[in-house]
Formats: sequence, structure tokens, C-alpha cells
Amino acid sequence: MINFFELKKIAEKYSKEIHEAVTRVADSGRYLQGEENKKFETDYAEYIGTKYAIGCGNGLDALTFIFRAYIEMGIMQTGDEVIVPANTYIASILAITENRLTPKLVEPSIDTYEIDDNKIEEAISSKTKAIMIVHLYGQCAYTNKIGELCKKYHLKLIEDNAQAHGCKFNNKHTGSLGDAAGHSFYPGKNLGAFGDAGAITTNDKELATIIRSLCDYGSTEKYIFKYNGRNSRLDEIQAAILDLKLKYLDQDNNLRKQIAKYYIENITNPQIITPIVNNWNANVFHIFPIRCKKRDELQQYLRNRGIETLIHYPIPPHKQECYKEWNQISFPITEKIHKEELSLPINQILMNSEVCEIVKAINAF
Ligand SMILES: *Cc1c(COP(=O)(O)O)cnc(C)c1O
Repeated sequence: MINFFELKKIAEKYSKEIHEAVTRVADSGRYLQGEENKKFETDYAEYIGTKYAIGCGNGLDALTFIFRAYIEMGIMQTGDEVIVPANTYIASILAITENRLTPKLVEPSIDTYEIDDNKIEEAISSKTKAIMIVHLYGQCAYTNKIGELCKKYHLKLIEDNAQAHGCKFNNKHTGSLGDAAGHSFYPGKNLGAFGDAGAITTNDKELATIIRSLCDYGSTEKYIFKYNGRNSRLDEIQAAILDLKLKYLDQDNNLRKQIAKYYIENITNPQIITPIVNNWNANVFHIFPIRCKKRDELQQYLRNRGIETLIHYPIPPHKQECYKEWNQISFPITEKIHKEELSLPINQILMNSEVCEIVKAINAF
């Protein structure tokens, strides 16, 4: 059986250091907002290339707090619009609606699956305050055109970097390309914790200060509350684990890239569309998405051969019950991706023999 991923095996890879880290925190008597947080925040900000990184409870909170902080700063208000790709994980959009801002869904490109920068300008109105790009599947969604649109219309650029730790645009990491970025360290992400965890990166001092406060009940100092914030903190144990795994991130991403290369070069079945890669630095393959008209049949066929695949994602956000108001709107490219997409196993512990077996099975379909 080839599983999509086995977190247990990934944990085994770093087992000794993880046990050391967990023991260190357990013995320290400090479980929140201590040295481990400081160290990870410093190291992660340096890695991403921003002045500030603020640890928080999860990726959804990270994205939500960015908008909330802009509201506190008077830069955004209820009813303002945020441009966001229609093809994304629900959390990107929840972060906007949670703040009573209005998402403006924009179709992706069928070649990259990322937001189509040719369709953004027509979605901009006098109420638009930000563009949120999502580096979906681990691929950079930023383009120079998006940067220019933000300048031209004075829009904030927010990155959802939940799937793309280590991904680059030219020489800069995603997460440092816009005004602020939200990161998730959900266990299955490229940089994964042993539970929920997230972070915000930015170069904006005021934004960073407000976000730090929002994560901690809105307090500016102990028992002084300036905002009605929330409790969303990064545990010391998670920070310690993330900090040690960060050292291996580039190495692990390179293993993913080697697998992706092998898939792209060796999957020859004409029914299968593999990702187009123009720049290998601009993709860290959180997901290896293929497309197939007979997707469900292919998934069952692979399952019968002991190969587990997943679908990212089966139902697009605009067809979900939580967004009933959009259910009748048609986003044909997004819907096509959701109908045809299949994610092949890709991670730092997959063996060559398993990758060969997957390719053989797909070519024989
Ligand atoms: C995982 C993910 C999130 C949310 O992160 P959590 O830590 O699970 O809250 C947000 N956006 C995208 C694109 C994701 O993949």
C-alpha cells in the first residue's frame, strides 16, 4: 500500500531531535510565549525575508488577523472588497468573510491553477482594498502584473502562504512578496507542526504590533486590553519542533521536486495532464496535481492497485453550503479543476520504488 502521506514516517525522520526538543520544553516549565517562540519567530522571519514573524494558533487565524489588523488601522472597513482566487481552500475565503469584508472571486488560469492575473483588473472596484493571492499547491502565484495592479490601485497585497513554505519568486521567498502573509503549519504542510500552528510575516511594524496583540486577547501589556482580540498563540512545543524542522525544509522541498520531475518526465499517458513548470524555484510541490477527464475512475483504479490519492479539492468554495449566496454563480475553470484534479503522493519520505510503481500504474490506465 502506498499511502498519500504517513506523518508517522515523517516524524521518524527527525525523531531524535524532536524528542530532545519536546523534552527540553517539558523540563523548562514554560509552555507559552517563551524562548522557543522567540527563536522560531526570529529564524522564520529570517528565512522568509521579513522583519517580523508572529507565531499564532493556526493558518486560518493568521490570515484572519491580517484583515482584522487592517480594520483596526482604519485601512479597511465592513463591506470593502478583497480579490481572491475562486480556486482555493476554504480558509482563504473564511478569513475575509469572518471580518465582514467581501470576497471577489477571480478565476484561475487552467495552466497554472493560480489566480489569472488577466482577470483581476476587471474585478477591481472603488471598494477594493486588497488582493489576496494563494500560492496554491506550493506554486508561486505572484506575478509582476499583480504587483503593478496593487501599486496602480493602492491595494494591499496579502499572501496565503499555507502551502508554499520555501517557494521563491526570483530570489525572494513567498511570504515576503506583499504587505503581509499568513502561514499554516498544519501537520501535512511542507513545514508541519505536531498539531495546529501558524504565523504571520510582514515588514510593517504597526501591523505586526497589532497582530501580536490580537493573538493575545488584544492586550498591549499584561491586563491592558486595547482590542477585543482572541487567544491564538503558538505553543512552545510546536515552536521548538518547527524551528528544528525549518533547518530541513529546503532539503525536504528538493526531495519533493525530484519526485515531481520524475512524474513529469515519465507520466506519458495522454489522458493525464501534469503540471507545467517554468521555474523550479517557484514551486515546492505541496501537492502534485494531475488532471484527468476520467478522474474518479483513475482514482478507483489506483486504489485497487494499493495507491492512495486525494482530491484538492472536491467542491469549490462557491458551491459550499456556507456560501449559499454564490451557489448559482458559475466559475467554469474553477469547476473544471475541481472535477478533474487528482493529487499524487509526494513527500520527503516517498521511496523511488514507490514513485516508479505509481508512474507505471498511471501509464497503464
Ligand atoms: C491549510 C490552509 C489554510 C489554513 O491553515 P490551518 O492551519 O489549517 O488553519 C489556509 N489556506 C490554505 C491555502 C491552506 O492550504
